Amino acid sequence: MADTFVDSIMETVEARNGGDVEFHQAVREVVESIVPVVEKHPEFTAAGIVQRVVEPERQIIFRVPWMDDNGQVHVNRGFRVQFNSAIGPYKGGLRFHPSVNVGIIKFLGFEQIFKNALTGTPIGGGKGGCDFNPKGKSDNEVMRFCQSFMSELFRHIGPDTDIPAGDIGVGAREIGYLFGQYKKLTNTFVGVLTGKGLDWGGSLGRTEATGYGLVYFVTRMLEARGKDWKGQKVVISGSGNVAIYATQKVQQLGGTVIALSDSNGYIVDNDGIKLDTVRQIKEVRRGRIKEYVEEHPSAEFHEGWQGIWSVPCDVALPSATQNELDETGAKLLVSNGCIAVGEGANMPSTPEAVKVFLDGGVSFGPAKAANAGGVATSALEMSQNSMRLSWSFEEVDKRLKGIMDSIYTQCVEAADTYGCNDNLVAGANIAGFLKVARAMMAQGVV
Ligand code: GLU
Repeated sequence: MADTFVDSIMETVEARNGGDVEFHQAVREVVESIVPVVEKHPEFTAAGIVQRVVEPERQIIFRVPWMDDNGQVHVNRGFRVQFNSAIGPYKGGLRFHPSVNVGIIKFLGFEQIFKNALTGTPIGGGKGGCDFNPKGKSDNEVMRFCQSFMSELFRHIGPDTDIPAGDIGVGAREIGYLFGQYKKLTNTFVGVLTGKGLDWGGSLGRTEATGYGLVYFVTRMLEARGKDWKGQKVVISGSGNVAIYATQKVQQLGGTVIALSDSNGYIVDNDGIKLDTVRQIKEVRRGRIKEYVEEHPSAEFHEGWQGIWSVPCDVALPSATQNELDETGAKLLVSNGCIAVGEGANMPSTPEAVKVFLDGGVSFGPAKAANAGGVATSALEMSQNSMRLSWSFEEVDKRLKGIMDSIYTQCVEAADTYGCNDNLVAGANIAGFLKVARAMMAQGVV
């Protein structure tokens, strides 16, 4: 039954979504994991749950024209995929990056359904973005672009319908411009976006949440091996929001982060990364990671981001982008003694890399569980907006920690119940899918 089930779902998904290889990859992983669930629940098959869950409820593609500082007109393509609303309004970030296409947004939206379900907060799954490259653009260009993007997107979103947030290329600056345009067009001040500024509806702790949540999740993975962060050497790829706050939390808990990267290459500082320098480069100057060695000459910069996996470490936290860690990188990590990998980015490990980790006895925390702290805290921001109040940083952080603990427990228990002991990939997929499937069953064929 297993092979026929997986094959029949994949045949339709591949036929309907031609070259969207990342989407195929994300769907295959989930569908393979839930075979024991489907065998135990024939009612899911009768109701076509899996066939429905792999098909987005709605996909919006739109033109985004904007004018640069020299008066030249550019046209980009914008997307919002509203994937599943069984457990709440669509929720998920916006990605602005030249690599964005409908397949990338579908894979991210699909992952988001199960990630959001795992958080235990009432949010469905969606994702959006644009093939716009914010790198090298002036603030005014970014503002005009965001206004044009929102001039179409506003029709499709709303605080009870679909609540976008940030992702790669979309941070506090972009959320500000997008929010301003939404407010102007609709004449409403509502919680339609998360990741807002603290003075206008944002939540304390949202900036730190994905990185902190990742480290809270990996703390549980380390505990299961009788270990903690003290003295651990940690390699983190990326140097954006997730990597920066994962670094901060690892340092607070006694670990040493020795490497970070960006799309040009990676830095190694065996004395421990000086986070103030990284934040200055990335958050203030919007510069490149190689600038780090100008201030810390004992550190090294190496061209080529993939080389980061050759740096020996105890824990690796891939936090850059999809498929950044392949079989070769995974084998290097294992042979250098790495004991735990937690995914900060969405789907950063290829299927072959995941297999190397699972077969090699490495504790592996998959993205939809390990990086769910960001969207979970977005849901906390939505709650605060609805109640028109703000919680303290400590309150938000305590809730985030509770959510990450609960996600870890759900993954372990689901893996245990369905005979996939210690496999958190299967556990996350099963636990997330079960919540969504039950909600879809209750709501009929819609
Ligand atoms: N882009 C983040 C993610 O991948 C956050 C989404 C959100 O806060 O809605 O989960």
